[in-house]
Amino acid sequence: EAEALADVGLIGMAVMGQNLILNMNDHGFKVIAFNRDVTKVDAFLAKEAKGTKVIGAKTVEEFTQKIKKPRRIILLVKAGIAVDSFIEKLTPELCQGDIIVDGGNSEYLDTERRVKSLKEKGIHFIGSGVSGGEEGARYGPSLMPGGNKDGWGSIKPIFQSICAKAGGKPDGDPCCDWVGGGGAGHYVKMVHNGIEYGDMQVLCEAYQLMKEGLGMGHEEMSAVLDEWNKGELDSFLIEITANILKFKDKDGSYLVEKIRDTAGQKGTGKWTAISALDSGVPVTLIGESVFARCLSAIKEERVKASKVLCGPPPSCYSGDKKEFIDAIRDAIYASKIISYAQGFMLMREASSLYNWDLNNGSIALMWRGGCIIRSVFLGNIKEAYDKNPNLPNLLLDDFFKAAIHRCQKGWRLVVATAVNLGIPTPAFSSALAFYDGYRSERLPANLLQAQRDYFGAHTYELLSKPGEFVHTQWFAK
Ligand code: NAP
Repeated sequence: EAEALADVGLIGMAVMGQNLILNMNDHGFKVIAFNRDVTKVDAFLAKEAKGTKVIGAKTVEEFTQKIKKPRRIILLVKAGIAVDSFIEKLTPELCQGDIIVDGGNSEYLDTERRVKSLKEKGIHFIGSGVSGGEEGARYGPSLMPGGNKDGWGSIKPIFQSICAKAGGKPDGDPCCDWVGGGGAGHYVKMVHNGIEYGDMQVLCEAYQLMKEGLGMGHEEMSAVLDEWNKGELDSFLIEITANILKFKDKDGSYLVEKIRDTAGQKGTGKWTAISALDSGVPVTLIGESVFARCLSAIKEERVKASKVLCGPPPSCYSGDKKEFIDAIRDAIYASKIISYAQGFMLMREASSLYNWDLNNGSIALMWRGGCIIRSVFLGNIKEAYDKNPNLPNLLLDDFFKAAIHRCQKGWRLVVATAVNLGIPTPAFSSALAFYDGYRSERLPANLLQAQRDYFGAHTYELLSKPGEFVHTQWFAK
């Protein structure tokens, strides 16, 4: 008797691919597995996938022949040439209407290109952000699909059943919806990672302020974060940070203090910052977070500088401790609002540039569960966009406006204190500078325009005659 055809095929037998296959199998989909090095398929079938309905293929031909039409094929291979190489091998074996989904961390411009070139061949290409790492892939990732929408109808039942559910509740909304055309899915995943950089940096600043500015111990800091995690800051990153701070090494000392203070990065935060610069959107908090990692990385130079460059003598905050801890909480919350507002400003700009028609509310919902930045806060963002899908900026939503008004006293105290104590807070400070700039009717760019006109005859507009560019001879020739 002929073996039943697979519902879906997956290529890529590394951690992500294997876990996503097992996840799809759990949800009743028959999956066929393939990999460049086919011995990994056999090893997977013999071990991790033993006792499941998963089948394997030895060649691309066998793989494509054993999938129901229209074929649904997911790639989970290394971003870059591996994706193009498989597209090239698959295309001759596919029919019009078949669908290829790239679930790797591809650059959005590559996805944009692949969507276009495969569309000409009648193949629907979808680039999907996949977040949540190994654990997410296995039990429910956040999925951000975008590309050729003609393929979405076939992929939707699979993706919305295997993805995370909002708030981790089985009956919660699926953390997966259509993001938009072209490279939109991978773009949104990139911004997600940038926001993740920002959320992490903000917590690092809070940690340094509690440790050095208040002289707090690890159990105490951990308890404060646990407390914050019960309120509006409730999030995965706060939860794990509370656990990390109190984690003891085998010798009984706190492990986090033994870790070398040089941050690594794989580049998605940097891509977000580059895209922000390219499109002229002030995504300052993510930018500062990338630079904070860069500064941390030049450890040897910092060690030398620490011996010769002075700051204020080390001391603790002299005011009320409880009040300052609350102020740090408010600084985190306010800075997060700024960071997400900036991230959504960037996505809005990209959406209009590439005609992606991004749906802000569903993006917030996709990040609500399964991914690293999951939080209660994203539920509030979803509500803001549900109320007004055309909201020009999150800061203008009543909920966030009230929150930032409530938090700003503490936020300003934290930034001012950090400056006085000589503790760097690039994320808190740049977020506050953005806030004060954004709410300014008048900025000093009038002087800047005068300077530009003075040395380069770049011209300026008068307040009284916008749109009319004039030049002044500022100095005697
Ligand atoms: P990975 O280490 O990024 O990639 C390994 C897979 O790519 C293997 O199947 C490998 O095949 C294949 N591959 C590499 N170079 C190839 C080439 N030139 N031609 C054909 N195949 C090639 O695996 P991963 O960590 O599971 O990640 C898969 C994708 O998901 C990546 O794009 C990654 O960035 C993304 N992602 C990862 C995570 C995570 O937490 N790990 C989270 C979200 C997204 P061989 O076995 O034959 O070498």
